[in-house]
Amino acid sequence: MGDWHDQTVAGLAARLRAREVSALELARHFLARGAQHADLNAFLARDEDVTLAQARAADARLAAGEAPRLTGVPVAHKDVLVTTDFPTTAGSRMLAGYRSPFESTVTARLAEAGMVCLGKLNCDEFAMGSSGENSAFGPIHNPWDRTRVPGGSSGGSAAAVAARLAPAATASDTGGSIRQPASFCGLTGIKPTYGRVSRYGAIAYASSFDQVGPMARTAEDCALLLSAMSGGDPERDSTALDLPPEDFTRGLDASIEGLRIGLPREFFGDGLNPDVRAAVEGALAELRRLGATLVDISLPRTELAIPVYYILTPAEASTNLSRFDGVRYGHRARSFADLTDMYVRSRSEAFGEEVKRRIIIGTYVLSHGYYDAYYLQAQKLRRMIADDLQHAFGQCDVIAGPVAPSVAWPIGTHAGDPLAAYLADIYTLAAPLAGLPALSTPAGFGDGGLPVGLQLIGNYLQEGRLLNVAHRLQQATDWHTRKPAGF
Ligand code: GLN
Repeated sequence: MGDWHDQTVAGLAARLRAREVSALELARHFLARGAQHADLNAFLARDEDVTLAQARAADARLAAGEAPRLTGVPVAHKDVLVTTDFPTTAGSRMLAGYRSPFESTVTARLAEAGMVCLGKLNCDEFAMGSSGENSAFGPIHNPWDRTRVPGGSSGGSAAAVAARLAPAATASDTGGSIRQPASFCGLTGIKPTYGRVSRYGAIAYASSFDQVGPMARTAEDCALLLSAMSGGDPERDSTALDLPPEDFTRGLDASIEGLRIGLPREFFGDGLNPDVRAAVEGALAELRRLGATLVDISLPRTELAIPVYYILTPAEASTNLSRFDGVRYGHRARSFADLTDMYVRSRSEAFGEEVKRRIIIGTYVLSHGYYDAYYLQAQKLRRMIADDLQHAFGQCDVIAGPVAPSVAWPIGTHAGDPLAAYLADIYTLAAPLAGLPALSTPAGFGDGGLPVGLQLIGNYLQEGRLLNVAHRLQQATDWHTRKPAGF
């Protein structure tokens, strides 16, 4: 059996087209790897029959000679995207066994593009978390060191791609959930501009933040997936921008000579671990060698992003999750006294700790008497943070910095201390607060030989630019080609 799992999406697509391998062989190969490494707990649902049937269909399209360029390439989906062929749980007991009657736009588009689905990926419950430990179905393990977290909330996506159980995965980012796990697992992941990708069928956490995006090993692979998944969805998601389809692979090779990269001084302060700082600075030095200029900038409200995010997203979550009441959706308690008791018991039984905490915070900040003091103030600050970023883009083309203050931490580190986990989101919150695109690309290794990511934030709809910069960096370095031992 070939080392198909070491190939990138682009490599596999070319080999499928050259008929060096069939979609069926690839599907079998990756299914076997998934079974072999089940201890990572990256997958929540797999179904061999479904995957193999999709692979056979892909082979038929390839044989007919009119297949789109991703035909036959395997992919796996974060379990917040609803699918008709696999159950969807959002990592919650609330939805255990749930089977959606409809397909999310993103999964449907990737299927139309010919991709073969290997299954659904574990994640923090309702995408709330930054470690993959908040899943109701057990913690996910980082392939670089199984005693460490893979990051979150898209921890299953990152673990699966890093362990070569899938060449690429979908993920979602509300406050960092694509970029931070990509960083912790040595991958590339991009959170698109708010509205670039349809959220139809993406189970909502905080609707004014949520974006779906790809995670893969290279910027080129992310460009391939993003091209297939993005675009307007007028019938189904009115927040998806109605833009013509864009091929994000086209600008990948452009020179970055003269590119102004802004370094917010607040991203390089005391809270940043020295090993992460050294790796990020190494990657920045490479970018300078490639012709970019580094510019000092300031994002003065960086620290405020944490309280603002942790007021606004729970507020939105508390309303989004009200549909899980055991009647419209979700688990229903077996015994109850009356209607109210049924709601209370069903929700108490099926939601995890972190989800309950955020629902309570959200209802609190939205309640009469506190709305003005918390929710409204946070909304105003959100606007000011977005304005700060626009001001920064007057001085630079792209903003760069770390993704997280540290490398992946040991499982259990933040147990019982949610605030400590919230603080580690400091660098990833600005982009989604403003709706801006941002990515993480490998930047070397820190303590314990664990991966470090470089974050790049672009102005609205500048995904192509971000992928271009990451691609040029990847052409000049080999961090993205390293893989965890034993995989
Ligand atoms: N870590 C952040 C949180 O816990 C981000 C989660 C996300 O982006 N879905 O909310």
